[in-house]
Amino acid sequence: MSVGIVNPKGKGKSQPRLHASIKKDRVSPSDYLKYDTRFSCEDCSHFDGEKVACTIGYNPAHHLKQEQEHQYFLAGNMAFCRFLEID
Ligand code: SF4
Repeated sequence: MSVGIVNPKGKGKSQPRLHASIKKDRVSPSDYLKYDTRFSCEDCSHFDGEKVACTIGYNPAHHLKQEQEHQYFLAGNMAFCRFLEID
């Protein structure tokens, strides 16, 4: 008899996530095509383009323009940073 954590997905399945995945918002295709929006790290005042880093310490990986566009064309949604600032 085994003792330990029981995988709720069943035996032999991958383990459940320890952390929730990043929240993504649906983007309307007509809005995406109609507006010239600014929502990427590259548009943000806190972005250091040389180091490709966020100067206030957040992980920019999901908010870089290339990643956002990839996610949009893949699933019609994007991960927006709630701390984006544009001067
Ligand atoms: S605050 Fe958000 S959008 Fe701005 S650089 Fe940092 S992670 Fe990117």
